[in-house]
Amino acid sequence: MEWSKGQKSFFTKALIHWHETSNERSLPWKEEKDPYKIWLSEIILQQTRAQQGLPYYLRFTEAYPTVKDMAAAKDEAAFRLWQGLGYYNRCKNMLATARYIASELNGKFPDRYEEIIKLKGIGPYTAAAIASFAYGLPHAVVDGNVYRVLSRYFGIDTPFDSTEGKKVFQQLAQELLHKDDSAGYNQAIMDLGATVCTPQQPLCAECPLQKNCIAYKQQLTGILPVRSKKTSVRKRYFHYLLLRANDKIWIRKRPAKDIWENLHEPYLIEADEVLKTDKLIKNKAYTFNNKKGQEPEYEGFLTQRLTHQLIETHFFSLQVGETIKVPVDGGNWVAINELKNYAFPKTVVSFLEKKLYF
Ligand code: SF4
Repeated sequence: MEWSKGQKSFFTKALIHWHETSNERSLPWKEEKDPYKIWLSEIILQQTRAQQGLPYYLRFTEAYPTVKDMAAAKDEAAFRLWQGLGYYNRCKNMLATARYIASELNGKFPDRYEEIIKLKGIGPYTAAAIASFAYGLPHAVVDGNVYRVLSRYFGIDTPFDSTEGKKVFQQLAQELLHKDDSAGYNQAIMDLGATVCTPQQPLCAECPLQKNCIAYKQQLTGILPVRSKKTSVRKRYFHYLLLRANDKIWIRKRPAKDIWENLHEPYLIEADEVLKTDKLIKNKAYTFNNKKGQEPEYEGFLTQRLTHQLIETHFFSLQVGETIKVPVDGGNWVAINELKNYAFPKTVVSFLEKKLYF
């Protein structure tokens, strides 16, 4: 694909001019030069909207002002702060990276792209963001906002998630980068994508790129950018049984290699379909039948959409009278007033809050 020099140089100049004169997007990590805080903000913003990530960024920087503070954090405390953001592997990798930097690099963030990208949980986008924002190095960021702006302005219909598409967009982004102000350029293109060239109903009338934008001229904004992969979604049915013995409930840490690793949950029965109470108590994982024939009480359900999974969660509660032995490894009876020290998946938090356990 070839574009004229004029089309490319107009893009960079108009974008930088817009950034210096009209970009009013304000976020606390903008203009930040501390690589630790830039890294933290980028990890929080992966798969999270800026406004949703903002309170988390503020909480983390307050609790852990430096990478050494984060390295010394207790896992449970950090997961608790992360609660509600989802994609908990991000938090796990973040802790591992902070500890690696503190112990192996004497608390100093690496200052070369090639070293930054070797850190756990850091891909090309985050490495480019840290390299350019903290150190002014000439590396172009390429994220969803960048794909959208480039695809529309240059009229690129190659799917951005294909191998060829990734190469085309990466090369073009690097070519367009303003080498003397890589931080300003990267910030500008991301902000333009977030506030003007938005996924739905882009504000073309206010856009500094409109004059040469192919999508605007050919009315392609509804079609570009193109994605190739259709994400297949796995549906799962969780049945949480909240076992309660006086002022204690039973919880366990979720196992590795599944969603919500390291978070806690009540007793779980997963099935291929929704189980009503009569079927639940006949399930082989249900071992709580007692002589009085006491049945669990149905409390309602919640659904949560993850990238590749749709989780339908049904909640039940059961008073068991005493802290019985539960046939699952890694579980504990925990006092209700201690629950605030544990991190739970979002749906479980909603349920526990509703039941006034927090
Ligand atoms: S003119 Fe419209 S489609 Fe083109 S870059 Fe600007 S906002 Fe996006």
